[in-house]
Amino acid sequence: HKLACAFMAAEDYSHGAVCLQKCSALDPANGTEYHELLQEMRIRQWFVPECKDLKISVQYWGTPKRRGLYVKKQVFESEELFRESPAVCLQSYCSKKQYRMCGYCLRSCMRAEDVVRTIFTKEDLPRIRNLCEAVGYEWPPKIDPPQVPCPHCDEEIYCSANCQTKAWESFHSVLCPCGDPDHPVAHFNAWAYAQPDPYRHVYLELTLKMCAMVL
Ligand SMILES: [Zn+2]
Ligand SMILES: [Zn+2]
Repeated sequence: HKLACAFMAAEDYSHGAVCLQKCSALDPANGTEYHELLQEMRIRQWFVPECKDLKISVQYWGTPKRRGLYVKKQVFESEELFRESPAVCLQSYCSKKQYRMCGYCLRSCMRAEDVVRTIFTKEDLPRIRNLCEAVGYEWPPKIDPPQVPCPHCDEEIYCSANCQTKAWESFHSVLCPCGDPDHPVAHFNAWAYAQPDPYRHVYLELTLKMCAMVL
């Protein structure tokens, strides 16, 4: 679900250090030259333009090192190397039934103990205390309800007023059924919730959202 990510340096690297290599293994018995050319092409097409203004670059050294991350200027531990933001992201309907995430940034809107309670049953209750603690270690900073709901429908919640405003300006003003059961999106939602295979319509949801963003 976490499509927006920041890549941080794990430790200090000085100029020229290779901090990651062999990202993609090739099958030596199977058309190596062709695959190596393809790797080089992908690096030039995708990574070279992406890394133009960054302290790192992706380079290709041929067999056996192949593709790796190359440090152009010194980076320090925990320094953010680059941040990637998706053009569009969404939480699928089937996942919404169990977990609630921010309708804009996908940050979790549930506390660790809420998530544990959706996974475990009453019989597990005596163990839940410890489980909550264990999950809490890995959990993002605690967000206490109430979250910020869309003021016009009960479909979406957000982690902050800022995300609610951004979502409304970006796509939700088009997609919000505003409590109207005859709104086309209300029909789509009813249909989507009723599907036996919940992942089949994720692509439709994404397409709908992309259309809303350019309208
Ligand atoms: Zn958010
Ligand atoms: Zn709404």
